[in-house]
Amino acid sequence: MAHGQNVVIQTHNLTHRYGKLTAIQDVNLTVYEGEIFGFLGPNGAGKTTTIRTLLDFIRPSEGSATLFGLDSVRDSVAIRARAGYLPSELALLDNWTGIQYIRWLEDVRGATNGYVTEAERLAGRLDFDLGRSLKGLSTGMKRKMGLIVALAHKPELLILDEPSTGLDPLMQQVLHEVMRETRAEGRTIFLSSHNLPEVEAICDRVGIIRDGRLEAVETVADLTRVSFRWLTLDFEDEVPAERFRALPGVAEIESDGARLHMRVGGEASMDAVIKLAAQYTVADINVEHPTLEEIFLAYYGKKEA
Ligand code: ATP
Repeated sequence: MAHGQNVVIQTHNLTHRYGKLTAIQDVNLTVYEGEIFGFLGPNGAGKTTTIRTLLDFIRPSEGSATLFGLDSVRDSVAIRARAGYLPSELALLDNWTGIQYIRWLEDVRGATNGYVTEAERLAGRLDFDLGRSLKGLSTGMKRKMGLIVALAHKPELLILDEPSTGLDPLMQQVLHEVMRETRAEGRTIFLSSHNLPEVEAICDRVGIIRDGRLEAVETVADLTRVSFRWLTLDFEDEVPAERFRALPGVAEIESDGARLHMRVGGEASMDAVIKLAAQYTVADINVEHPTLEEIFLAYYGKKEA
């Protein structure tokens, strides 16, 4: 287990309604100190609503939440001082430069302990120029500024709403490193995502939310153990599909002359497929991760079997 047993976030039947629309219903979540917890679900599933309720931007319609053992509504000021938050849409005062904004925040938060130094260090890591005006920042640049703001006071808990949106792959890697460093310091990260590969890459545990309901909480190790890949192989010439079909772990194979499409799962099966493919002339190869839906079905299908 990557985490300790101290609970950082606990929700009890957390429910929020926008008028007649129930955005989240009876969400019971536990997030432990020192873990990276991924909150995964499709658009509109209720991720942002849950996060906004935790931070008291909106109130529970029913149920409750505690962060650090403090009540999310009654103790919201104390909670926010100990948490860093990256909203999905960041509103910045754009007639300022980044560093002016950071100094202002330092003032407001009353955080003097190396706040600017930490912001500058993070800006260096993320390749962000704090000296430039915040006017007309691209989505990716705004995300970077948002991350610096969320992290600069070295919060015990980091809540990130779709953190890698708008970041190029290289910057996503940097962000992942920063998250791992944060975890190594014993701090906790709760992030929402609709991107399964990202969650697989950095999270310890994942909660899956759909239509406002928390459907499952699993360790990423358990989820990926049953995960599989969709593999497409293009060959120079036609190949005998039955040789591939006979390999353990290969399923749902479709053959179209020189192209094979198959599902490859289970330990060592990819290796066997690649070694067999190498006996022919390979023109192209494409590997896709399963969708959230497919992982979910594979996981629970297998459990019931
Ligand atoms: P996304 O990734 O698209 O932000 P999400 O999982 O964060 O999705 P929420 O934004 O929490 O989902 O939305 C949950 C549901 O609540 C959706 O049906 C959405 O349309 C609805 N909703 C969200 N905000 C409001 C609002 N301010 N007023 C009314 N309905 C809302």
